[in-house]
Amino acid sequence: MAKIMVIEDEAAIREEVIEWLQFEGHSVSGADSGRPAIEAILQDPPDIVLCDIWMPEMDGYAVLIELRSNPMLSHIPFVFLSASASHEAVRYGMDLGADDYLTKPFTHAELLRAIESRLQKHTSQNDQIRERLEVLTEALEEERTKRLLKTRLVAMFSHDFRTPLSSIMSSVELIRHYESRMTPERKAMHLDRIDGSVHQLLQMLDDMLLVAQMESGSFQYHPEPLELAEWVGEILEEFRTMYGMTRTLTLKADVGCCVQADRRLFRQILVNLVANAIKYSNEDSEVIVWVKHTGDQIELIVEDHGIGIPAEDLESVFEPFHRAGNAEEFKGTGLGLTIVKEAVERHAGTIRIESEVGVGSRFIVSLPASGK
Ligand code: ADP
Repeated sequence: MAKIMVIEDEAAIREEVIEWLQFEGHSVSGADSGRPAIEAILQDPPDIVLCDIWMPEMDGYAVLIELRSNPMLSHIPFVFLSASASHEAVRYGMDLGADDYLTKPFTHAELLRAIESRLQKHTSQNDQIRERLEVLTEALEEERTKRLLKTRLVAMFSHDFRTPLSSIMSSVELIRHYESRMTPERKAMHLDRIDGSVHQLLQMLDDMLLVAQMESGSFQYHPEPLELAEWVGEILEEFRTMYGMTRTLTLKADVGCCVQADRRLFRQILVNLVANAIKYSNEDSEVIVWVKHTGDQIELIVEDHGIGIPAEDLESVFEPFHRAGNAEEFKGTGLGLTIVKEAVERHAGTIRIESEVGVGSRFIVSLPASGK
């Protein structure tokens, strides 16, 4: 059902057209001249206007000009009804922006066809506009999120850089002023602290550069064959020495598990998952890394017996800055898993989580296996 305005000064024709259209189920209103018609249209814009040309006071052309010059009404389809079928009159009306022209007398069928085709065209134009608007809105939203992400990244990194920097400064000051009075153990502890903080800063710098490169699309992806068992073993060893850990980090790897990987990006996957497994579990609990062959896939699994992730957060932990409700007392930025997911996807892989609060978590990365 469409809302139709019929503007026609000859009452008999106006009533007849209104009746035909009402029988077809449309909601129709009528006006006998231009001015009251425009007022009614302003109050309640119709879906289409049918308008006589020759009317006293304000003719159909003036009505059309007024509608087309009002941004709120300019889109309404406009059909002239006229006794004059002269080429010039039709041409003039079309030049002013009319959509169609019906010459009186017209039949019931001609009128309905004209209305139908105008409304259909209008709907498809509206659909196109709506589609274009949706695309634009999406692009705007994406741009806004990116800008927000960048602002938050800068704020976060400038904040997080201070902690290891202060730690380095304080250890250096202590050694400079009190070295002669320090026990060798105390001095070693400060040197370890400096070393650990420098590594932390380097890792943060690397993360930041990587996120920035992925954001700007300038990241250069260089995959090469990587034998996982050996490589995971080396990284776990780095964890043990870097943090001087008492933690049990166990590797359970099938031999011959090879994937195509960009070493720098792939490292982010394992380093972030293992760092989280350590952070979110007790010091005396074991972290296990599995490397498995499953058909034509390789699975890299990082398992801990830590705090677990609440079911309602499982979907969102990969979103930037999202931290689960039970992670408040642990330091973190909420970015690690975003980098992990992006890195996994760049390697044509998938990642999923199995987790239970108070029991532990398993992060399962599946990647296409490759020959050496
Ligand atoms: P964060 O810096 O907060 O650790 P991540 O992006 O690495 O950021 O992880 C996002 C959130 O996912 C964490 O804040 C935490 O709530 C949850 N999470 C990640 N790994 C684990 C894990 N192994 N055990 C429990 N919760 C985890």
